[in-house]
Amino acid sequence: MLLKFIEHEGITGVRAAVTRVGINLNVYVFLVDGLLIDTGPSRLKHSLIPFFAERPIRQIVLTHHHEDHTGQAAWLKQSLGITPYIHESGIALCQNRPHLPLYRRLFWGSREPFQPQPLPPLVETERFSFEVIHTPGHADDHVALLNREHGWLFSGDLFVMSHPKSMFAFESAPELIRSLRKVLACDFSTLICSHAGILFDGKKLLRAKLNYLEEISGQVTALYQQGLSIKQIQHRLFPGLHPMHVFSRFENSPYHLVHSIVRELDRT
Ligand SMILES: [Zn+2]
Repeated sequence: MLLKFIEHEGITGVRAAVTRVGINLNVYVFLVDGLLIDTGPSRLKHSLIPFFAERPIRQIVLTHHHEDHTGQAAWLKQSLGITPYIHESGIALCQNRPHLPLYRRLFWGSREPFQPQPLPPLVETERFSFEVIHTPGHADDHVALLNREHGWLFSGDLFVMSHPKSMFAFESAPELIRSLRKVLACDFSTLICSHAGILFDGKKLLRAKLNYLEEISGQVTALYQQGLSIKQIQHRLFPGLHPMHVFSRFENSPYHLVHSIVRELDRT
C-alpha cells in the first residue's frame, strides 16, 4: 500500500486508499506540530506504522471512535506511550473491541481496545492552539478542531461530501444540520477532511452541505406530512441504488437519511 503525502502550512496529510469489490475509499491522518489527528485503520498498519515511528508525535486527538480513525490507537499508546484524547462520550466505546458489520471489517479491519482520555476544551501544541467543537451527527462523540489564527478546521467526518444521498443507520441528518450551523458560525477557510483531504474554500463547501441537507429535510417533512411512509419518501427522493448500499447490507442507505429526519419529526 503506497501512502501519498500532502503538505500545507506545516500540516502533513497522509492518504491511504482501500479498494474492495470495486469501491475505493480514501482515508487521511494529519500531523501538525507534533499533534496527530486520527490514527487510520488497522488494515493499513504496515504502511502507517513506519510513518508514525519516524515522526515526532507528542499528542493524539481522535475526531471520533470509528475504526478507520482509531485503528492504530492501541499500537500508538503501547509503542509511543501516548494516551489519545477523544470526546468523553466516546471513551467507553474504545474500551472494548467493536462488533463491526462484515463490510467495515473488510474495508478497515477491526480495532484493538484501548483506554483514551477525555478531550479538554482546548488542545495546545508548541505553536498552535485548537478549540474543540462537539459536532455530533455522524457519530455522537464527533468533534472538529478549530485553529482561528490560520483558519483551519479539522473536520473529521463532518464533511466527506457536500451532497450525500444516503446515510449510515447510526447517523442523524438533523444533528448534522445543527453541527454544521455551529461550525459555520466560526471563522475558518481551510477544511481538513478525513476522507476528502485538504480543501480550500471550506466554508463554501460546508455551507453547500448545510443548504442541501436543509432542502432535503424540508422535502422529507412535506412528504411525511402528506402521509407518505419512509419507504415511499425514499423512493420518491432517492430512486437510485449504489453498490455501497448493497455491500453494506443497507447499513448505508437513503432510508436512514429519511428515517433520521422523520424520527425527529415524530419526537416534536
Ligand atoms: Zn466515521
